[in-house]
Parts: sequence; C-alpha cells; structure tokens
Amino acid sequence: MTQLKYHFSWDKAHTQILQIKFEVSGNTHKQLEIRLPLWRPGRYELGNFAKNIMSISAHAKNGKALKLVKTSIHSWILETEEEQEFEISYRYYAAVLNAGSTWLHTDQLYVNPVNCCLYLPERMDEPCELTLDVPNNYQIAIDQKEIGSRTYRFSNFDRLADTPFIASASIQHLEFESSGHHFHLWFQGLKSIQETKLKTDFSRFCAEQIRCMGELPGQEYHFLFQITPQQSYHGVEHLYSTVIALGPEKDLFGDSLYTELLGVSSHELFHAWNVKWIRPADMLPYNFEKENYSRLGWIYEGVTTWYGDLFLYRSGVFDFKAFKTTFEEKLKKHFNNYGRFNFSVADSSFDTWLDGYVAGAPHRKTSIYTEGSLLTFMLDSRIRAFTNDLKSFDDVLRQLLADARQGLGYTRERLIEIMDSLGPQDHREFLGNYAEGCLDFEPELRKSLRRLGLDIGLHLDLKPVEHAAGIKLSISGQQADVLLVAPASPAEKAGMATGDQLIALNGVRWDLALVPDLLPDEKLEITAFRNAKIITFNLLIEVDKFFTSRQINLIQDAGEDERNAFRSWSGQDFPQ
Ligand SMILES: [Zn+2]
Repeated sequence: MTQLKYHFSWDKAHTQILQIKFEVSGNTHKQLEIRLPLWRPGRYELGNFAKNIMSISAHAKNGKALKLVKTSIHSWILETEEEQEFEISYRYYAAVLNAGSTWLHTDQLYVNPVNCCLYLPERMDEPCELTLDVPNNYQIAIDQKEIGSRTYRFSNFDRLADTPFIASASIQHLEFESSGHHFHLWFQGLKSIQETKLKTDFSRFCAEQIRCMGELPGQEYHFLFQITPQQSYHGVEHLYSTVIALGPEKDLFGDSLYTELLGVSSHELFHAWNVKWIRPADMLPYNFEKENYSRLGWIYEGVTTWYGDLFLYRSGVFDFKAFKTTFEEKLKKHFNNYGRFNFSVADSSFDTWLDGYVAGAPHRKTSIYTEGSLLTFMLDSRIRAFTNDLKSFDDVLRQLLADARQGLGYTRERLIEIMDSLGPQDHREFLGNYAEGCLDFEPELRKSLRRLGLDIGLHLDLKPVEHAAGIKLSISGQQADVLLVAPASPAEKAGMATGDQLIALNGVRWDLALVPDLLPDEKLEITAFRNAKIITFNLLIEVDKFFTSRQINLIQDAGEDERNAFRSWSGQDFPQ
C-alpha cells in the first residue's frame, strides 16, 4: 500500500489558493524533516517556492495537532510524537502562469508538483499517490494512467516532481502516432485548433528525432500547451512530457508565432533525450536541496537549441529560409553580446544559479543557449570535415545516450574522449578555447559555414546611430534610454553609460527620426539625464560599427563538395 499520498482541492478558485494535504503513514521517527524543492529542473536558479505557502499545519490521524517548526526557507521539523500516521495540510498560492509554475483559476488547475509538493528526504525513493478533487467535467492532461478515480501513482518523488498536469473542462486533445510512439497534444486556452497542420508538422519532426536518437524514454509523450491571451514564450522539459506556454492566442497559427510553436516544441522534445536521459554527472540525480552547479550547460541547453531547429529543417518542417532565420537570430545574440569576450560559456553555465535569467551587469556573461548552439555547429563541422561526413555530432549524442542507458552521467572528460575518437584529436584544446575560454568564434564559424557552401556577411540590424555611436537604446514613445554602451565605442569614450536618458542631440530635442546618417570623423553632441542631472557628451564617430550582427549567404558558385556536405548535414538539397 502506498504510504505517501497527496490530495489537491480548493474552495474558491478565483482566490488562487490551492489546498494540499500530504498524508504519511508508516512513520517510525520521533522527529522528521519535511522539505519543499528549492529549484525545479529546467531552470537552473533557486525557485524559493515556499514563499507561496500561505499557512501550514500538521496533525495526527486522531486529530491531535503536531508541532511543526520552520528551520530554513524550504524545510520544517515535525515533532511526530511517534504517530505512525499523520497529515500535513497547507494552503498554496498558485498564481504564476508559465511553463514551469502552478496556477489555479476558475477555468483550470495546472500543477508542476516540483514547486508545491512537500517531501520527506529520507523517503524520496518510495512510491507516492496523487488524488485530484476536481469537477466531474474536468479532463486531466497528464503522462500517467489513472489507477482510481482521479488518482495517479508514481514510483518515487522524482517521478512525481517530473509530472506536470492540467485539469480543465475546456482543454482540447489531439493524438497521433509517429515512429511507433503515441503522441498527445493538449491545448488549454485555445479557441480553435488547426488539427491537420499540427499533426502533420509534429509527426514529421518527432519522427526525425526518433530516427536520429532511437526510442524515446517512454512509449507515449505529451505536449501540454498553455496558450495565453497575452504574449508568452516558455517551455519546460520532462521525461515523458513538456509544458509550453505561448501567446498571444489570437496569433497562434500566424506564421511568426506558429514558427515559434514548432521551434520550442522541437527543442523540448529533444530534451527528453538530452538532459532528462543524457545528463551531466553533476546533476545525476537532481538534488532539490541546493544549487546543482555544472559548467556543461552549453550541452544541455545549447546542443538542444541547435538540434531543435536542425531537426525541423532535416524533417522538412522548416524550409531553408526558416532555418536560416533561426541561425541568424543566434548569430545576432552572439555578436551583439560583448560579454563573449569577458566570460566563457562554461562560467556562464555555472552562474545561471546567480543571474542566468536576467540581463545582469552589462557585458559580463554569455548565454548557454546561444553560445552552446554555435559551439555544437562548429564541433559537428569539425567531426564531419575530419571523417568526410561519415561521422558527426549525432554520433557523439548516440554514444552519450548509450552511456546514459547504463546509468552514467557525462563529464567534460568523457565528452572529449568520445569526440576525439571520432574526429580530430584536439578537442581538449578546442573546448579550452571556445567553451572555457573567450576566443572569437568568427573564424571558426566562417570555416564551418564555408564547408557547406555558406558564407557570413556583416549585418546592421539596429538604428544607424546605435551602430555608429555604440549604444543600444530602449525606446518608448519619444523617450530613449541607453541599455548598453559598447566597449571602446565613441559613446563609451565620451563617458556615456547604461541608464542615461537621451534628451537632446546637437542642441535639439532628441528625436530618433532626426538623427542624421553618421560618417567617420563626424562630431555628435548628446545631452542626457543621469540620476536627474543633465550631462553633455561629445562623441567622435569612428570607422568601426558596433552591435553588428551577421547574415548567412549562399555561395553562388558552391562546388560539388560543398553541396554534398550540405546534403549530408541537412538531409536537404543545396538551396537555389
Ligand atoms: Zn531547454
């Protein structure tokens, strides 16, 4: 019999307060530690979910109150008085709606158990049960079979923590088969659904991923979508499912948002292999009690970002133009970030726990998503070049999966060993330069693209004044605030800084439309507020352009070698 049971209910949905009961039997201890996870897998920062616990109490089966004392921001000590059975009741404020949160409202209950289910550290390996007290007309989107009325069983706490669900009367459900697996698409908040389009596109990229990696961890896989009226974009991976929050709902099947829907869905599905199965040894198993530092975030997020988009292209769901756009977005994020010369992606990975999900100090760090995906492209290219396309980074992933099947997490050393066995034997130095160092990616990127008959050209995607002066602006109506100042740019040399609010240019009220085209040696006088004081800056424009990006061009006279390499890499013919 299951001795750990969770029960979810509510009184008034609009208050967004969830009533959770945690029933424990089989207790033999006098004192017990009780905890709530401090973070959730997929977001490598502290979540501090206990701030949502409005009240908490414990009592024995006979109703006697038991003493519960808080001992840290996410743990309590319970004086059990040697009661074998007791219950902890708490009210949880469920008012955040994103892909990794818990949300209660009049139309749905949406739960990520990792942020609201208490656990007993000593009994995490025991099976547990979850019962939902929801209206009869509610359907439940969950990657588990019902074992009783609205009741589900989990092999251990980790499995429960990894099983999000949505209970709702209005959720829509589609199913399809792809490569011997059964897939579910659940949409909450969507008014009308384009069934054929969704099934066609999803089954293609799902099949392509399975073709590359082999079987998914489970026979079935669930995509749970929270489609919001407002703009949103967020996905969180689980072993047998994913939650994706996307909006605005009215635009979901428009070109741009639908492309994002495919992009994030392909990324999250690939996480079923890469991070849920293939995982750094640093995080095997996940430790919910503290930070799980890793310098290999560029693999679990970067490789996933790269392959998520590449699978869409390989499967034909994206054409070359759509794939090229995703590639150029990565290049833009990379080249616009001067932090790439300051902080390696390995250090940035470690520091996601510190400030990985906010802009933070200017030019301090890089993104594990962006740098990791470009690194993957360069590593893949090196292996392909060395083996005449007989081997690729796909083989590295398959070897990591073979390791994972034996319960092994990967390390930097293991990765180097695998890559050195396939390609040039200098991956230690390569990673030292590009993953753990801050060497400029551009020459290596150019080389990798050239192999495929592609080239990169300079691209100016900001306003001319931003490229010339070296400032990135945040513009709202007539107001222009300096977001970033490029190192060694005219603006930086003139003393400008993040936060300056522009008020005049050459003595005339600031108006972006009035900024002239700027040529080298031109002088510019910018007046700005800084901390409510007026300062004037004198800029001398130089030849260099700042915050530039790159665009990908086809080499028109690409030869047969390049065309073949392109075909081998993408599964598609060289674009015309
Ligand atoms: Zn991800």
